[in-house]
Amino acid sequence: MGSDIAAYDYCAFILLVIIVVYYFRTSVHGTHRVRIMALIVLITLAASAFDATRVRFALIKEVSDVRFFAVNFVYLLLISSIPVLYLMYIVATTDTWHKLTRFKIEVVLCAIPMAVNIIVLVLNWYVPVAFEIGPERNLIRHWGYYLVFFVFMLYGVISQVFLKKNVYPVDRKRYYVLLVPLIIVMIGLILGSVSSGHHVVCFSVAICILMLVLINRRVEDSIDIVTGMHTYKVFAEDMYTNFKTGKQMELILINIINFKHALRMAGYDSMLAMMAPVSSEILRIMKKYHAQFMCYYNGDGKFAIELSKKNFTYAHEIAEEISNSIRQNIRMEISDFELDINTCLVRCPDDISDVNALFMLIADLDIAESDGKVVSASSITGTKEFTMKKEMSTIIDRALANHYFSVFYQPIYDTRTGKFSSAEALVRLRDPKYGYISPQLFIPLAEKSGAIHAIGSFVLEEVVKFIASDDFADLGVDYIEINLSVMQCLRSDLADEVIGLVTKYKVDPSKINLEITETASGYSQSKLSTNIEKLTNRGFTISLDDFGTGYSNLMRITQLPLNIVKLDRAFVIMEENGGHHIIIKNLIEMLKNMDLKVLVEGVETEEMVDSFVRMGVDEIQGFYYSRPLTKSAYIRFLKEKTA
Ligand code: C2E
Ligand code: CA
Ligand code: CA
Repeated sequence: MGSDIAAYDYCAFILLVIIVVYYFRTSVHGTHRVRIMALIVLITLAASAFDATRVRFALIKEVSDVRFFAVNFVYLLLISSIPVLYLMYIVATTDTWHKLTRFKIEVVLCAIPMAVNIIVLVLNWYVPVAFEIGPERNLIRHWGYYLVFFVFMLYGVISQVFLKKNVYPVDRKRYYVLLVPLIIVMIGLILGSVSSGHHVVCFSVAICILMLVLINRRVEDSIDIVTGMHTYKVFAEDMYTNFKTGKQMELILINIINFKHALRMAGYDSMLAMMAPVSSEILRIMKKYHAQFMCYYNGDGKFAIELSKKNFTYAHEIAEEISNSIRQNIRMEISDFELDINTCLVRCPDDISDVNALFMLIADLDIAESDGKVVSASSITGTKEFTMKKEMSTIIDRALANHYFSVFYQPIYDTRTGKFSSAEALVRLRDPKYGYISPQLFIPLAEKSGAIHAIGSFVLEEVVKFIASDDFADLGVDYIEINLSVMQCLRSDLADEVIGLVTKYKVDPSKINLEITETASGYSQSKLSTNIEKLTNRGFTISLDDFGTGYSNLMRITQLPLNIVKLDRAFVIMEENGGHHIIIKNLIEMLKNMDLKVLVEGVETEEMVDSFVRMGVDEIQGFYYSRPLTKSAYIRFLKEKTA
């Protein structure tokens, strides 16, 4: 029977040994939190060993009374130190050490029960105030014994109050994770003190430790270190569940809209450092309103707050105050740089009814007009563009299934021969509900969803079929340019697909020029290089699209086997505005000296045609000559020009 009642202690012991071996080997060392947890584990280990020993000693007559007494004494001493350590663990986990230095009296008051406990236990060696050994080797408990348990519970209550004050308002999840162990141990204590036969105290502590190391570590991992707020991952998870369960929510979204710009100016470290005061400012205002909420930092200067129902009535006021105070109070150290922010109050499910739309709204808030006021969610979600974007994946699927995509051709003028010897193939989407949708709108979304591959393949086949047709042979067109998206370039089977198509339709590869962008040239070099090498070896030519818009890297131009560089319309605008003529002129000259053909895009006026012809560009593309045309219109256009 004796060894049976110590069974809980054995279990606790084994559990704790596993925790020691497993957890402490994989945990981040050196932090207060981990050190305190290590101490709690060791003390509980020792306590369970002493508890089991005292059960054994009670049965062995040979063990002296003094030794039996000492084992009981050490057990009670160890047990009584656990709740104090747990309180310290909570302080460490909530990062509130700094607060303790401000509350000296409270700290002293907190230490008193523990001190009384120790005094009672020490006194027990002389006067039996806590326990004594009975004639039957039984433990006779006195009020001091129960005091140990009472003090244990008292620290539990103090911990709970501390938690509620410091964690609850910011973070309900962490609050419950830290609160549950308190409840479990309380139950263990009550059981342990009412029935002397069940030694469950150490076991309940061990269970809690296991819970904490498994769950709390996950919670900790989900906290952004700089802002102290939940990470994007938690936000996504929470929002997903909230929408799924139809929870009524009010969200305040705060976007620092010049974040990326500031990042380029000030660097990553300074921007990261800026996020801490922004988060403190948000928390300060939330506290001022006694608001209960969940706070998230979604990266790139984007914050989100989920208000609890109690605060719905002040939601607008809170959003306004946060917006104003960040703008006024947070300054970058360098050059007094102001953070430009947009705030938006979203009521779910009234304004937004699904999680994808919410993410779209967060992205679109960056470009919303605000005049410093809180942006209304409906001003973003009410637009046709938003509805369309929301439905884009359906629209794209519908278009692929029903052949709503088509290819238009924009003629390209050769300045040397005076002929339209090439054209750019541009995809068009005509939706029965929304009409023509700009590729600028659907291409980025198709890249994200992966639909770009199907769209890209469609365009490739359409163009190859056109080149193979009899219509094409009479046109005197040298080649057609086809846009390749970044995602297509990163596919290892791109070259094979393109080569497969020209083989199937018996098309000469020199009739096709593939356009890649600088963004693409910045991605995984190996796949891109392999694709390009295979293609150029087969006789395809390559041009660099949108030159001058991205992070122009002249080195890349020398590394890629390029045929043509396409100057973006930005250069036309620059030339129209004047002032940079000499730069453009020299750039064109330099590219030509590198044996590259130079094409300028987006030319709309005769004046600009003349200007770029004088600067020596080889090809011109733009509305001045023609907009992108349907295949038949393009054929008509060429026939008229040659007639
Ligand atoms: P891009 O490759 O730079 O294509 C040129 C864009 O400039 C076309 O817009 C064309 O209509 C427009 N443009 C041509 N001349 C002028 C002009 O004189 N003035 C002005 N303001 N614009 C002019 P579009 O067709 O709307 O295409 C936009 C972008 O969508 C393209 O930019 C390209 O990045 C992408 N795109 C279009 N078709 C395809 C495609 O088949 N595949 C891929 N991956 N992307 C495509
Ligand atoms: Ca292009
Ligand atoms: Ca372009």
